[in-house]
Amino acid sequence: MRIDKLLSNMGFGSRKEVKSLLKKGIVTRNGEVVKNGQDQVDPNHDEIKVAGEEIEYKEFVYLMMHKPPGCVSATEDNRDQTVIDLLEPEDAIFEPFPVGRLDKDTEGLLLLTNDGKLAHQLLSPKKHVGKTYFARVEGVVTDSDISAFATGVMLDDGYVTKPGELTILKSGEISEIELTITEGKFHQVKRMFQSVNKRVVYLKRLTMGSLQLDEELPIGTYRELTEDELTRLK
Ligand code: URA
Repeated sequence: MRIDKLLSNMGFGSRKEVKSLLKKGIVTRNGEVVKNGQDQVDPNHDEIKVAGEEIEYKEFVYLMMHKPPGCVSATEDNRDQTVIDLLEPEDAIFEPFPVGRLDKDTEGLLLLTNDGKLAHQLLSPKKHVGKTYFARVEGVVTDSDISAFATGVMLDDGYVTKPGELTILKSGEISEIELTITEGKFHQVKRMFQSVNKRVVYLKRLTMGSLQLDEELPIGTYRELTEDELTRLK
């Protein structure tokens, strides 16, 4: 590919900005200065350096974040911290975006990528990608809630949900449950419980499709997906 395209993709600015960078003579390919933006490079084999720093070329980035509460899963927000604000600059240059949304107070698994095709596959209602949540719920969760969720419940706007799989882990004043759903309606888990007169007081996403939250990942941090995780997800 052209060196100016590669540098631009890697976050070194627009084609025009990259041109002036090249003009400065600080870009090298295998030790030789490259000044012409049209010069071809092989990102997988050539050693490209900018001001002596080697750059690792990749088109796509796939990050697993353990989202903390208190930040929004958007790329920009005027009021709140976003999940993008938690990224190191070397990851943010790839302009990843969150695949689907978690509420501000929801924690857990959030995939960030700049691979629009994969994001679309995971979010498409036709693909029925399962997402499992752990929740603490005010009130005793019962077998009749399991049956109601398995059939589908009517949300406050009249929408009837697709079947969800509810497992009761602990039943009491504050119950603990796991719920797997294949949709992503706004506040869906909270609204499903609302439909059976219960309130979610804590919510954490554990899985999305084959991807499982790495419990070793401290809250508020992220890591790249392993090759195995990525292969299974695609
Ligand atoms: N359902 C919710 O209610 N909130 C989330 O953040 C995700 C699913």
